[in-house]
Parts: sequence; C-alpha cells; structure tokens
Amino acid sequence: MICCEKCFKDAEIKGIIRSLKRKGDCETCRSKNAFIYDTNENNELTDNFNHLLGIYTSVSSLPKEFPKEKLSLLKDTLKDKWNIFNIGSEWIYLLIRDICKEKYEEDPELFDSPVGILEMNESAELKAYSILIDHNWDVFKEEIKTNNRFHKSYINTSALEALFSYMEINIEKGQKLYRARISNQNGYPIAEMGAPPAGKSSSGRVNPEGINYLYLAAENKTAISEVRAAAYDYVTVGEFILEEDVTVVDFTEIDKISPFSGIDVLQLAINIEHLNKINIEIAKPLRRNDSPLEYLPTQYIADFIKSLQSKNGQRYAGIKYKSTLHMEGFNIAFFDEKLFKCTNALVYEVDKVDYRYQPLDE
Ligand SMILES: [Zn+2]
Repeated sequence: MICCEKCFKDAEIKGIIRSLKRKGDCETCRSKNAFIYDTNENNELTDNFNHLLGIYTSVSSLPKEFPKEKLSLLKDTLKDKWNIFNIGSEWIYLLIRDICKEKYEEDPELFDSPVGILEMNESAELKAYSILIDHNWDVFKEEIKTNNRFHKSYINTSALEALFSYMEINIEKGQKLYRARISNQNGYPIAEMGAPPAGKSSSGRVNPEGINYLYLAAENKTAISEVRAAAYDYVTVGEFILEEDVTVVDFTEIDKISPFSGIDVLQLAINIEHLNKINIEIAKPLRRNDSPLEYLPTQYIADFIKSLQSKNGQRYAGIKYKSTLHMEGFNIAFFDEKLFKCTNALVYEVDKVDYRYQPLDE
C-alpha cells in the first residue's frame, strides 16, 4: 500500500517519509507527486508504530473488570486520541495493518477488536504515570480550592516535569511582544507599562495575588482584546523587547507533541487529556465576579513550572497559552518582567468592538 507525507499530521513521521526522497502518486489520500512511502518496500515507519501499538492490549487479554468505556478500536483510537493521521479511520486501519505486517500476523486481534491501555486500570501503574496520580483535573481543582492547598499529594511532579520537557520552546533575544492598558487619550508613559509593582497585583490565571508576572501578547491586536477595551476607549499598547534568550513551556501545541519524539508514549497517552484540561483552564478569560479561588489550580501548575529547569539548564521563564479573546492569538506570562525592556508606548482608540453572544442554557 502506498501512502504519502500528506496522509500524516505528525511532524516526525512526515520527516521520515520526506527523508526517503521517493516521489509519486499516493493511493491513500490521492495526492499527486508527493513524497511517498510504500509498505511493500519501505519499513522505516514500522518500529515507530510497533512501539506506539505496544501500549495497547486487545480486549481478550485485558482483565474482565477493565472498564468497557475505556475500550475502542485501534483505528478509532489512532484517529481520535492522537494527532498522527490526516486520513479517515478506515484508511488508518488498512495502512497500519500494512505498516505493522508482522505484528498483525502475530496479534490480529489488536487491530480487529477493541483495545485498551492496561495501566489505566491498575492503581499502582496509574500513580506512577499520571500527572494527577489517580484523580482527574476536576477532583484536583476541588481539593486545592477547598481542602488542601499546599500539599502535593494530588500531583505527580516527576511525571509533570518529564512532560513539560517535551513542551519547551525557545524564544530569542530581540523578540517583540505587547501589553495593553486602558488609558485616557494621553496614554501611559513607558515607565508605567510594565507589570504592577510587587505586592499590588491581583490574582490571575497564572500569578497569585501580590506576585507580579508580566503578561504579554504576540500581537498588539491580541493585547488590546485581552484588556477587553470597549468601543471609544483609549488603549496604550507598550512594545516590549526581550533582552536575553529564554525557554518557556508552551501549552498551545499540546496536540502536536509527537508520540515518536522519544517521549514515554505510555506517559503521554495517559496524560494527554489532563494536559488539554490545564491548557483550556489557563486560557479561560477572567470573569468580573470570579472568586480568586478559581485561579488556584493553574497558579499551582505555574508555580511548579517556575521552580523547574529546562533542558538547557536555565529556569523556565514563563508559560505560553492560547488567547480566547483573539482567535489565533497567543499570550505568554513571564515570571520576571526584568527580562524585557519597554521601548515604545502608543495610544490607540477602539472604534469598533464586535460583540458575539448566546443565551445561557438554564
Ligand atoms: Zn497520501
């Protein structure tokens, strides 16, 4: 069977297929003159997929009490839980069977009947692998808000640290980022565009009350959206220049972490949904009447990231997350505002705001 680079979303797999330098027409996704992989002649993807498939067990080999809701067909799991393929589940079935021919001959059930991850149902294994031990994010949130604030019994810090190391990105000295403040028509001077003074900041999704972080946006439109200026407001936007190379933890690309990047695949499979929940929670806009307690769970995660070192031995400088107020935009919360110099502050007038709303379900 012939597939091609375009049949996949996963960057590692695309890279392997491109490196084979074979061009032709794809019989799977019908792309013409693409970099192709022929399962009859190539085997460069076999080890990668055998390794990934190795975390799954077919239903007949799982214990009887394994929860049925955690079972699904391999082709559906590969389509829905992983961001590997660009093709439908029927094509995934045919392709994976050909890529992993020998595994299919040894254990056809793995491909043809429902599968599950054995460790998901074993308390000791789950405790070792899951970042939330044997809880879920909602239980952790409730615990930290209402019961046990500074105790680590709900977080597996070594698993979390290992996963963050695959979410690192470097940002180079000289990068320009933006922060906005609602102002009057004269605007704020450059000196007043930084983070609030220590002890004065109110709590946010990433910073606890009194600890000042510098929240910056990648574009000035995102920065203006983030302060939620109304029509005819004046907004001062400061331009900030990064003064040294830094490493941050990037939550915006969680779904692009490749299971073929050398990561512990089982650990990633068990935690991918937890990581997505953390990402959604960090990006959630603050509401006027939110209780500051709402922000404790993400503040806890941020504080932990702040205490860790990146692969190059530097401490992480911040957290990157999606903007929910400006689609396609992203924000970075930096732990130390001294990493930046504000070089310019421009005043804008907001001439139009596009409100979108919907009735709240009872
Ligand atoms: Zn293709």
